[in-house]
Amino acid sequence: MTTIRIGILAVQGAFVEHERMLRALGCECVELRKPSDIDRVDGLVLPGGESSVQGMLVRQLGLFEPLRREIVRGTPVLATCAGMILLAEKIRNDPRVYFGTLPIEVDRNAYGRQLASFRKTARFDRLGDFETIFIRAPRVVKKGDDVRTLAVVDDAIVAVAFRNQLAMAFHPELGRDDRIHRRFISLINARRDALNLERQKRDAAENGGGDENNADPRPLS
Ligand code: GLN
Repeated sequence: MTTIRIGILAVQGAFVEHERMLRALGCECVELRKPSDIDRVDGLVLPGGESSVQGMLVRQLGLFEPLRREIVRGTPVLATCAGMILLAEKIRNDPRVYFGTLPIEVDRNAYGRQLASFRKTARFDRLGDFETIFIRAPRVVKKGDDVRTLAVVDDAIVAVAFRNQLAMAFHPELGRDDRIHRRFISLINARRDALNLERQKRDAAENGGGDENNADPRPLS
């Protein structure tokens, strides 16, 4: 098995913490700051920070189109906080849309100033209790039918999955619990397996219709 290579958007925000966690899990991490950095990545991380600043830098640095292409093509993405905002199809209190690949509507800074940061134990889909850390977090106020809810805190959806996109309003990279990052790696492995299978089928078809054509055509008797 070759090492998993993860591209981490590194223009602003909390990217180092994701990198540390993913390296500890055996992944190779590439910091993405220019288009040529997005080379043969198996997964992408969109970290927390300030979505408006990240969105602006992503465009200025020419990263927008290549990143969007990777996401649409099915490369697994782990997005946290500002990253979730960058993926959202709609932002309730902001006219901007960035990648717009995730059918959710989010409310930016949904918890107000007084409650700028807090911790809470949430039940995370298939993982059970997970200690969540929120920092000026958004929350999901609407979602498409095929978007799966992964965690709810105080009646608000705070983590979702949609196809190859895993997005959460909190910061799993700031705690010690790496189970969400492990789940992201499982998603990457599942996609790699699917792509390998497709490649094998294609190769077999290109080599003249599969194994039966390489067989001796004479009857067995
Ligand atoms: N409030 C930030 C935004 O609107 C997100 C905060 C975070 O990523 N911790 O982009």
